[in-house]
This record gives sequence, C-alpha cells and structure tokens, in this order.
Amino acid sequence: NAGLGSWPERRLRISPDRDAIWFEGTTTSHAGFSERVRRTAGALAGLGVRAGDRVAWWSGNHPAALETLYACGQLGAVWVPVNARLTAPEAEYVLGHSGATIVIHGRDHGELADALRTPGAGVRSWIAVEPPTAGGADSLPYEELLAGSDPEPRDVPVGLDDPCLIMYTSGTTGRPKGAVLTHGNMTWNATNQMLGFDFGPTERTLAVAPLFHIGGLNGTVNPTLLRGGCAVVVRRFDPAGTLAVIEEQGIHSFFAVPTMLDAMAREPDFRTRDLSELRTIGAAGAPLPLPTLRTWLDRGVTMQQAYGMTEAAPGCTVLDSADAVRKVGSAGKPVFFTDVRVLRPDGTVAGVDEIGEVVVQGLNVMAGYWNDPERTAEVLIDGWYHTGDAGSVDDEGFLYIRDRYKDMIISGGENIYPAEVESALLELPGVREAAVIGVPDEKWGEVGLAILVVEPATRRDADAIRHALRERLAGFKVPRLVRFADELPKTATGKIRKPDLREHYLREHY
Ligand code: AMP
Ligand code: MG
Repeated sequence: NAGLGSWPERRLRISPDRDAIWFEGTTTSHAGFSERVRRTAGALAGLGVRAGDRVAWWSGNHPAALETLYACGQLGAVWVPVNARLTAPEAEYVLGHSGATIVIHGRDHGELADALRTPGAGVRSWIAVEPPTAGGADSLPYEELLAGSDPEPRDVPVGLDDPCLIMYTSGTTGRPKGAVLTHGNMTWNATNQMLGFDFGPTERTLAVAPLFHIGGLNGTVNPTLLRGGCAVVVRRFDPAGTLAVIEEQGIHSFFAVPTMLDAMAREPDFRTRDLSELRTIGAAGAPLPLPTLRTWLDRGVTMQQAYGMTEAAPGCTVLDSADAVRKVGSAGKPVFFTDVRVLRPDGTVAGVDEIGEVVVQGLNVMAGYWNDPERTAEVLIDGWYHTGDAGSVDDEGFLYIRDRYKDMIISGGENIYPAEVESALLELPGVREAAVIGVPDEKWGEVGLAILVVEPATRRDADAIRHALRERLAGFKVPRLVRFADELPKTATGKIRKPDLREHYLREHY
C-alpha cells in the first residue's frame, strides 16, 4: 500500500509514542491512532466495504473523520466527506451521485439519517460516531463496531493514482461536482505544505476549520500527521474557545479562513491569551483583509497567506513567513512541486502585473470530477486546471489574487454559487425572476443579496422568502438580503446583467 492508508503504519515504525490526536481532553499516540485506524478498517470491511467502494462522512469535526479517512485508505475504499450543514435533499444528491454504500454520521445528524434511510436505496449501513442527540436509533454505534473488530494490519494494494476521496464542490452551473483526489494528490499536497509551512516533528496543529472541507483537512492536519505531529481536534469554531485551546494546547500552527481570524481578533481575550507557541497560521479560502493580517502580526503571530482550492488538494501558493510583511496582500509563490501561471484570454502567459486567469499544474491537482467528463474537460485543459480566479504576478514572482471570473460568493469561507440559489428561488411560488449577487460584509466577507421579480399578486415578503429557501438550502446559502424589483437589467440575448446589478445595489445600499 503506497497510499494514505499506509501513513499510520509507517508512523508506527518511526514514532509510536508521540502524540497524534487530542480531542476533548483525551490524547492518542501514533501507535494508538494506528490501532484505531486498523480497527475502523476492520469494522468497515465487516460491513462489506471493498476496494473502490465509497464511504461517506457526514459530521462536524471529530477524530473519527481522520480514522475513517485513513481506514478507507487501507481498504482502497474512497472517503466522501459531506458538508455537515447540508439539508437532507442536498446530502441525498451527494450520497446518490457518489454511490456511497456506508454513511458515518455525527451526533447532530440522527434525524437527517432517519429522513434519508429509505429501504432499497444505495446506502446499506448508517453508523453513528456518537449517540445522536435526536433520532438515529437505527444507526450502528461506531465505538462498538471498533471494539468488536480485528486490529490486524491489512494488505490491500493501493497505488498513488487510485482515488482517495471525493470532495463535492458547487459550480457555476448545475449540481455540485465531486473532485476526485488521489492518494498521490494527498501525498504531494502534504509534501508541498510541509515545505511551505515548516511543520516540525512535534508540531501541534489545530483542526478547527471543517474537516469536510479541503483546507481544514489538508491545510495543516494531514501534513502534520504525516510529519509525526499532533492534530488537536476542535468540534466547532467559536472564537473565544478556540483562543483558549490555542493557549492551553500550545498550538504551533493552524489553517483558518479570514472570517475566523477576524472573529478571534475581535475577542477581548485576543490581547491577553498566551500565543507564544503559535508560530504560523495558514490563511486561505478567501481574500485576507489587511487589517486582520496586521492585527495578528501585531500580536507577534506570522500569518502565511495561501491560495488554493478543492481541485488542487488544496495548496497552490503560499507566502513565505519571511515575506509576510514585505509582500502583504500577496498569496505568495507556487508551492514546491506545483506550477502556477496567469493566462491572457488567448492562452498566452500574461506579463508582469497583468491580470489574467490563474491556472495550476502539479501532482496535487485532481484527476477530474467523479462521473463527469464534460465538466472535467471544461477545467482541465492541456494538463492545467483553470481556476476561474483573476490574478497577476509581480516582477519577483509573487501572485496576487485580484478578482473572480466565476460567478461565486465566498461568505465566511463557504462558497456559494448564485446559480444554485437562483434555481431554488425560481422554484418558489410567485417568483418570476431571480438574481443573486455578493455584497461586501464586515463579518462574513461577502453575503448574498437576492433581487427578485415576483408576480403582481405575490407579497413582497423577504422573511417568507428566506424561510422557504431554508428548507431547500443549507443556511449559509440563503441570501442574507432580499430586495424586490419591477424588472432586472438584461442583455440583448436575455441574460441578466449582473455587473449592472452589482453597481446599482452597491451604490444604493453601501
Ligand atoms: P474551495 O474549493 O472551496 O477551496 O474554493 C476555492 C476558491 O476560493 C478559489 O478558487 C478562490 O476563488 C478562493 N480562494 C482561495 N484562496 C484564496 C485567497 N488566498 N485569496 C482569494 N481567494 C481565494
Ligand atoms: Mg472555500
């Protein structure tokens, strides 16, 4: 086994006694972690999981995210993380499209599991990581399965080109796409990240961003485990609680999206907590506001702005800590084994400081989207992944992300695709036309603003619209603001003119 599933076995040989996982007061060594991974693999095999099968993970942060990921790696099975915030119909799509046969869910997902447990459907077994707070009575208890399983090592052949996980990301058109990340993608991303962030052999990193997202999983956590350090797993982000864990656990590094860093910097505790062990923070997922960066720098913490995406597992560029101040605002240089270019519309490479589309090539870039050759071909062109981001490179080779060509809103680190929200809006009775744009927001970076044209007899009730949408879409996708208009500006071909809407609403309301 050359893949991720072999990492705990290799660690066991080298540093069995060092800390691997800390969670709610309990520390597990690398030896203990490897045994739990083997037992998880045994339990999944006992439920019929074989090489190539898909196993879904649907929960907030918990060490079992990592146990099930590595266990799948030992079986050659494919781990499918599902955003913990999805509604039942949204999750149903991901489970159906990926063809998951097993779902491991968190304590808050018991009722959702019950809602989706249809006889004859593709999912054979539901497993509850912890006793569910409500519902989920028919889900198998995770700890009991592990206790009853065999901790012998397995020897399933797994190669670097085999799929390790499928992570779903939304797109500018249609349903979410499943980015297939191979064992090689995981290995090379971890290598790139170790080189870019200098993780040490006794690194203590914080797993506080969601492990079902690529930044939370592969930003610092998997690279730290590969290096032999410890992942301190935090169930959910709360700014004051996270600052306390950073101090108490002597955290050296972590990955976060800018809104998390901003929320922590606003806590009264931020000035008084002992952050002396904290060496660096990898900040990515959205543009990092300079005031946020400066606040952390003033506290003596280096922040390394990075740039990446699910399709690249995710690291593409990182700003070296030595350049963090001098090149403030830059996303840095390409990570070691990856190349990044900025292209003009005609495909030639842009000049210094010239803005164009950012494209990425490297061993960390995905194989493609699961069962979707068409949409794969749209983004993987001549071996380069086309990001839909607008950027430029300065005379010293530093990348700056300037804008987005793709129609996407990033709110609190979650991506929102207006097309998905607009089609949900158009399904509501009385909604004739809908457009969703992103507007700047102090707390969330951006929030969605929906502009609706409704039938004359329909009440213009923003709260009712938001409430109805909440049943179909995860809360973060529901537009924070709803406005009504008599008509929407259109092009000659009938397409809504989003730039005009943006200009109009930004001028009018901000
Ligand atoms: P995801 O696949 O959810 O990780 O989203 C990837 C997208 O997030 C990228 O294509 C960018 O649009 C955005 N993004 C990631 N890092 C940065 C950054 N440092 N600055 C600006 N946008 C970023
Ligand atoms: Mg993101």
